[in-house]
Amino acid sequence: MTYRAPINDILLALNHGAGLKAAVEAGHFGDFDADITSAVLEEAGKFATDVLAPLNRVGDEHGIKLDDGKVTTAPGWPDAYKRWTDGGWNAVSGPESFGGQGLPLAVNAACTEIWSASNIAFGLCPLLTLSAIEALDAHGSAELKQIYLPKLISGEWTGTMQLTEPQAGSDVGALRSRAERQADGTYRLKGTKIFITYGDHDMTDNIVHFVLARLPDAPAGTKGISLFLVPKFLVNPDGSLGQRNDIYASGVEHKLGMHASPTCTMTMGDRGSAIGYLIGEENQGMRCMFTMMNQARLGVGLEGVGIADRAYQQALAYAQERKQGRAIGHDGNGSDAIFAHPDVKRMLMQMRALTAAARTICYATAVALDVSVRAKDAKARGEAAARGALLTPIAKAFSTDIGNEVASLGVQIHGGMGFIEETGAAQHLRDARITPIYEGTNGIQAIDLVTRKLAADGGASVWALLDELKDTVGRVEASNDPAFGTTATKLHEALGALERSSRWLLERVTSKPNDALAGATPYLRLFGSTLGGCYLANEALAARSASAGDHGRYVALARFFAETITVQTSSLEKTVTEAADAVNGADAVLLG
Ligand SMILES: Cc1cc2nc3c(=O)[nH]c(=O)nc-3n(C[C@H](O)[C@H](O)[C@H](O)COP(=O)(O)OP(=O)(O)OC[C@H]3O[C@@H](n4cnc5c(N)ncnc54)[C@H](O)[C@@H]3O)c2cc1C
Repeated sequence: MTYRAPINDILLALNHGAGLKAAVEAGHFGDFDADITSAVLEEAGKFATDVLAPLNRVGDEHGIKLDDGKVTTAPGWPDAYKRWTDGGWNAVSGPESFGGQGLPLAVNAACTEIWSASNIAFGLCPLLTLSAIEALDAHGSAELKQIYLPKLISGEWTGTMQLTEPQAGSDVGALRSRAERQADGTYRLKGTKIFITYGDHDMTDNIVHFVLARLPDAPAGTKGISLFLVPKFLVNPDGSLGQRNDIYASGVEHKLGMHASPTCTMTMGDRGSAIGYLIGEENQGMRCMFTMMNQARLGVGLEGVGIADRAYQQALAYAQERKQGRAIGHDGNGSDAIFAHPDVKRMLMQMRALTAAARTICYATAVALDVSVRAKDAKARGEAAARGALLTPIAKAFSTDIGNEVASLGVQIHGGMGFIEETGAAQHLRDARITPIYEGTNGIQAIDLVTRKLAADGGASVWALLDELKDTVGRVEASNDPAFGTTATKLHEALGALERSSRWLLERVTSKPNDALAGATPYLRLFGSTLGGCYLANEALAARSASAGDHGRYVALARFFAETITVQTSSLEKTVTEAADAVNGADAVLLG
C-alpha cells in the first residue's frame, strides 16, 4: 500500500498545535508568507507518493553493496536522489545567501516527516546533510562556507556526521581519532569511525564528512575534541573536484532494518593522508557538534512520526479489508471487517493519537528553534532557545519510542500476515528500531532532559511551558463542549503530576543524582504524554473555532489521548518519585 501525506492533519498541527501561526502573527518570521506552506506540503506529498514510496521496498530487499571502498545503492536510488535535488527539496530551509529557499525549519520538519514516512532510509541521507549545513553555517570560516555550503544546500554533495568509534558511542569523549596541524593551516586525520550513515554512496560525486577528532595536545574527554571537514574529493580553487582524499568506507554493516541506508566503517589516513579543515576553533568541536546534533535529534524524532504514520495508514487500510468474525450486534450473514471489533478500533486510535501527539511535539520544537534565530526581539529569541532546548530530547525520544510502539501495533493489526514480509508492516517495525538508538540513545535523551534542560535556571523553562499548557486546559474547560468528555480533568491531573515530578527531580539532581537518573526515562514519557495531550486539545479547540466541518474528529482524538494515554501520567509520577530505591537496589536481583 502506498503512502499519502496527511496534509490537513499536518497543517493543523503546524499552525495551531505547534504555534506557527501565532509566531508568524507575532512578527517572528519576518515576511514569510504562511500561505505557501500548504502548497509546499502538497508538492512534497506528491513527490513522496510518486518517487520515494515505491522505492521503500526495493531498498529494503536490495540493500547496498560495498566493493573496493565504493558503495552502490539500491536500483533507482541515484535517479530518485537526482529528482530530489532537481525538485529543490534539499534546499527547503537552507540559508538564502547560499542558494537555499530560506523557509522555516518548521516547514522542513513537516517535509522530513513526509520523507521518513514514504522512505525512511532515503530521507536519512538529506537529514544528515541538513545537520551538516547547520554546523558549517554556524561555525565554519567564510572560505569553507563559500566552497561547501552551496553544494550541500542544493544537495549536489551530501554530508555525514562522524562521531562514533568502537570504544566511543554514548561516551563521545572517549574518541581517539587524531588530527595533526600542518604548516599550510590544514590538518591530517588518522583513525577509524564506525556506524557512519551514508559514509559512501553513488548518488553524488562528492561527500563532505564532518569528523570529530583529537589534536595531539588536546585535553582529555569532550573538552579536547575538534570538528573537521574532510571531503571525499578535495576541491580545486576553481570549484572543480581534485584528488581523492584518504577517507574510505572499509566495511558496511548488515542490519535489522534500514537496509538501503549504508552504515559504514570509515578509515582515514591509511592509504596516504586524509586532509581536513578545522570548523570553529580547536577543542571546541563538541559545541559545533551540538548544533548538528540538535538538528539531527529533531530529524530523528520526525522519523519516528513518519514511520508511525505510515504504519497507521497501512493498518487502517488492512483493518477495513480483512474480514474475521462477527461484530457484536451484527445480524445477517458473513463476517465483518476486523475494523468493526472494539479492540482493533482501540489499537487504531492508539496509533493515530500517539502519532498526532508526537507530530505536534516535533513541530513545536521546530517552531521554537526557528523563533530562536528569526525573532527580532532578543527576549523572544532567548525564550524560544530555552523552549527548543527543553523540547529537543522529548521530541527525539518520545517520538521514536512511539514510532516503535505504533509500528508494532501495525504488525499486530495485520495478525499473522504482519509477521510476513510481504505486507510491508514488518519492514516498518524493523526500520523504526534504530531510531531510539542513534543520535543519542533515548536513555541519554532522558538524562539530558533531567540534568541539563530541567535543571537549567532552576526549572524556569518548564514552569513557563506549564503556564501555557494550563491556559489550554482552561480553554477546554471554558468550551463546555460535552464531546471533550473528561479531557480537561485528565489534563489538569497530568499537569499536576508533571509539576510534582519536576520539583522532585530538581531537588535530587545534584544531591541524589542516582535517584534522579533512575526516574529520567519515565519522566520523559510523562512529559511527552502531558504535552501531547495538551497540544491535541489545543488543535481540537482551533478546529472547533475555525468551524472546520470535521472538527468533531479532532475533539474525539484529543479526548481519546487524554482519557487513555495522558492518564498514565499518574503511575509514571509514582515511578519517578517512588521507584528510585527499587531501581538502584537492582544489583542484588541482577547480579545476585
Ligand atoms: C544504523 C546506525 C546508524 C548510525 N549512524 C551514525 C552516524 O551517522 N554517525 C555516528 O557518529 N554514529 C552513528 N551511529 C552510532 C550511534 O549513534 C550509536 O550506536 C549510539 O550513539 C549508541 O552508542 P553505542 O552503540 O556505542 O551504545 P552504548 O553507548 O554502548 O550504549 C549501550 C546502552 O547503554 C546505555 N548507556 C550508555 N551510557 C550510558 C549512561 N551514561 N547512562 C545511562 N545509560 C547509558 C545506552 O542508553 C544504551 O542503552 C549509528 C548507529 C547505527 C546502528
